[in-house]
Amino acid sequence: MSFASLGLIDPLLRNVQNLNYQTPTPVQAKAIPAVLSGKDVMAAAQTGTGKTAGFALPLLQRLVQYGPAVSSNRVRVLVLVPTRELAEQLLQSFIAYGKGLDLRFLAAYGGVSLNPQMMKLRKGVDVLVATPGRLLDLNRQNAVQFDQVQTLVLDEADRMLDLGFARELNAVFAALPAQRQTLLFSATFTDDIRGMAANILRSPINISVSPPNATASKIKQWVVTVDKKNKPDLFMHLVAENHWDHALVFVKTRNGVDYLAAMLDDAGYAVDTIHGDKPQPARLRALERFKKGEVQMLVATDVAARGLDIDDLPLVINVDLPIVAQDYVHRIGRTGRAGASGVAVSLVCADEAPQLAAIEALIRQTLPREEEPGFEAEHRVPQTSATGQIVKKPKKPKKPKVLQVATGAAQVPSKNTRSKPGSKPAAGPRKPTGKLAGGRGKRQP
Ligand code: AMP
Repeated sequence: MSFASLGLIDPLLRNVQNLNYQTPTPVQAKAIPAVLSGKDVMAAAQTGTGKTAGFALPLLQRLVQYGPAVSSNRVRVLVLVPTRELAEQLLQSFIAYGKGLDLRFLAAYGGVSLNPQMMKLRKGVDVLVATPGRLLDLNRQNAVQFDQVQTLVLDEADRMLDLGFARELNAVFAALPAQRQTLLFSATFTDDIRGMAANILRSPINISVSPPNATASKIKQWVVTVDKKNKPDLFMHLVAENHWDHALVFVKTRNGVDYLAAMLDDAGYAVDTIHGDKPQPARLRALERFKKGEVQMLVATDVAARGLDIDDLPLVINVDLPIVAQDYVHRIGRTGRAGASGVAVSLVCADEAPQLAAIEALIRQTLPREEEPGFEAEHRVPQTSATGQIVKKPKKPKKPKVLQVATGAAQVPSKNTRSKPGSKPAAGPRKPTGKLAGGRGKRQP
């Protein structure tokens, strides 16, 4: 199958060719004709499947072929996204796919000043990619009106609901023209998403390219069990042992992000961070530097988890498991994109057994477990089953035996030597040796 056989016009075919896309991905093969037909679409597609071109190419074509030119403070295609990063990324995709088409594009999101966005909206834009809160702000200021909206796209709809945008979304739906095309893309289909879809889609064409909630099959995934206090040391050990020098690293808290980033920095890696408290320009800069390879390790909280388009990322390391199982799917969706193979490693401690069980139930597989010699968990991680059960109750952790050696020093770290965010980690049962000392010369100039 070729892009030409899907009915795309020449300028779009040229742009696709220039991007070196040879054949449509499965979601593109299904979505492009569906969107071109003007019908509503509900698509179960993860990031990495090529879904962006699946809706952007046919929408660009419809913008060129139909409808009056956009008027001032109006928008013809409205794309709603959960995060600022995704908004920027989709804007870049629309610009690339729509090169030479004489259409206007804009991304509008919070955390940056309203004024430049208001100025750009004055002339009207053909495609506005926006986060829900900022869109409503702009609408309240009369900077954008919705009467010319011909298509609404909800990208990563599940994530928008997870982030608590339900109220904003309903306010936007209520303000849009009833006569419109609506496209809903989501990696997972919870009852909430289905409920929303039932409210806003009319006789949609359903597209599913991989079973909902399945993780990309080419991603090699496994779990390394470890005690919580030894996670930072194990992480650094695995990174050094395996020569992992380009990875997206997920940590639960902002403090944890800063802590690991400092360890990596000390060990000589070029590292940057993304988390919610970081100003937007700094977050985008970190992402850009990581994409370009100027940064080897990008340490992030879930803010970065969805929809970021990072090509050829071989490795995702979950130092902490996400609280919400779906986020695991989104996190590891960064690897194994468009057919490439990837690796996703998760460091799991006993406390995280329920999260692990929920993830395994969601992806319908039991993740293989490993232990790293020298980092064996004292607090065993209970067995889980792929139905989301914890098979055996965790044994009550035994009181660690304190073996007195000749010097009288204890071999097991005591409570008050355990690592805290912001302090150096306590020594694990075996301190990783050698490779990290003095760094590995990996820092980029
Ligand atoms: P997406 O799922 O839309 O974020 O796309 C994932 C990645 O696949 C992006 O880097 C796209 O540039 C790339 N891509 C999309 N469609 C194709 C295609 N037909 N052939 C090769 N790469 C593609």
